[in-house]
Amino acid sequence: MTNTFQIAVFHGDGIGPEIMGPTVDILRKMADASDSYDLSFQDVPAGAAHYARTGESLPTASMDVARSSDAILLSAMGLPDVRYDDGTEISPQIELRKALTLFAGVRPVTVRQGQSTPLKMPEGKEIDFVLIRESTEGLFHTQGCGEVTKDEARETLLITRDISEKLFRFAFDLAKTRKSTGRSAGKVTCVDKANVFRAFAFFREMFDAEAAKHPELASDHAYVDATALWMVQKPWDFDVMVTENMFGDILSDLGAGLMGGLGLAPSADIGLEHAVFQPCHGSAPDIAGQGLANPHAMILSAAMMLEWLGIKHDNGAMRQDGTRLREAVEAVVAAGDVLTRDLGGSAGTSQAAAVVMDALFVA
Ligand code: ATP
Repeated sequence: MTNTFQIAVFHGDGIGPEIMGPTVDILRKMADASDSYDLSFQDVPAGAAHYARTGESLPTASMDVARSSDAILLSAMGLPDVRYDDGTEISPQIELRKALTLFAGVRPVTVRQGQSTPLKMPEGKEIDFVLIRESTEGLFHTQGCGEVTKDEARETLLITRDISEKLFRFAFDLAKTRKSTGRSAGKVTCVDKANVFRAFAFFREMFDAEAAKHPELASDHAYVDATALWMVQKPWDFDVMVTENMFGDILSDLGAGLMGGLGLAPSADIGLEHAVFQPCHGSAPDIAGQGLANPHAMILSAAMMLEWLGIKHDNGAMRQDGTRLREAVEAVVAAGDVLTRDLGGSAGTSQAAAVVMDALFVA
């Protein structure tokens, strides 16, 4: 019997709807072609434009649909001129992360041979690592409620055993999956600052306890400053990296830079039950409405969704479709014939998405 998965779709703001439309078209066609799974999409409102119209950024009804869905596809959200009364940006994605306890921010970084990158790639090397950013605590713990007086400002960094143990279990499971599919040799690196902060010594201790349960996988530690250096000097040596929220926030943009820009950087925020799949970039108001946005980060995020659902529900065909979709985008980008302007080409959003569709169904 074909299993139908419910997908909540947030079209977002700015370029959000422009990149979500073709992504859903690709997913629909893949599901139609499969007799192992089906996808049912439900559009749900949220975001800055919705807030400007209604005074609500993430309506309860949208949250309910997200909570009861099998997965959540979320496009870029937020607009520079639309703010809450306290001046902060509209970011339902952060509310979802907190409400659904999505502790693992998964940011894959891949650069294939032929793909344009600011690095000089040695012959035969490719970049293929995943940065996992803890996404519910760390230095974001007091986000929006730090103490500020005339003379001082304070924010608190929080590392809990509960979330850290889940995070490290997730990291080692991911390394195991990557190793089993031949994608990597199986190594997890804990990125911290344990030489300076006691909180990170605590973080590292829990990492080591999880590492001891996985003798088949390698593990090591790296200080965050050295990691920034090595991500530029020898990024091909990394496999799975796991780190605190703020460190991950910064390093994931460095990772996007290695790939040639935000337009290629997908992400997932994953918890024990729920997961949100969204591009790393924002709503790019400077190019919105012109059909110029690069859809690949959104399409690659959808590929991650298929892989995650396939693994969670033991659906091999779905998992394979996720891999096929990711590889189709990677091949199109490495070929370099049809690229959007952010990658140095002249293609528009629909043309860039159409080439991926062709790679899947025509080639
Ligand atoms: P946020 O704070 O919401 O992450 P931001 O203001 O940092 O957003 P983005 O909206 O991501 O930034 O845009 C940064 C730059 O990258 C802009 O010049 C934008 O046009 C460009 N950009 C972002 N995403 C894309 C995309 N998918 N295709 C093409 N250009 C993009």
